[in-house]
Amino acid sequence: MRNEECIFCKIANGEIPSNTLYEDEGYRVILDLGPATRGHALILPKDHYADLFELPDQNCEQMLKIAKKMGALMKERLGCSGMNLVQNNGESAGQTVRHFHIHLIPRYDDGSRIVAWTPGEPSAEELAEIRDTICG
Ligand code: AMP
Ligand code: ZN
Repeated sequence: MRNEECIFCKIANGEIPSNTLYEDEGYRVILDLGPATRGHALILPKDHYADLFELPDQNCEQMLKIAKKMGALMKERLGCSGMNLVQNNGESAGQTVRHFHIHLIPRYDDGSRIVAWTPGEPSAEELAEIRDTICG
């Protein structure tokens, strides 16, 4: 199902041109217009799902397979030595386009860190409390 207001629906379905790296019946992989590194790409489903929580399970499996295939191709052709998969859900997580997508970010041996955070130092009690909050 498509959302008429959604730019990624239009791109995924070929209504708006893009630099397409891969396409099949359900998905399109495009180059990101504001890349973090050379070759930064986005995997888009052709159907509209706002985020991971709307994405059907079968799409999860298919999209990870596409990530693996494209990642291997980028390693071969671009010579990247690593790859970050980034996937944002919700404004607080940095999602700016509310159409589910996975970022494929090729990494090179230049020492830069794209995905980074300062590690916290929770006590054993805090970790146990969080575990129980989520799972209890
Ligand atoms: P996110 O912040 O996870 O929602 O990522 C949205 C990404 O889409 C950003 O990296 C943008 O650079 C990229 N983007 C936005 N519009 C376009 C477009 N028309 N074509 C390609 N990439 C786009
Ligand atoms: Zn959409």
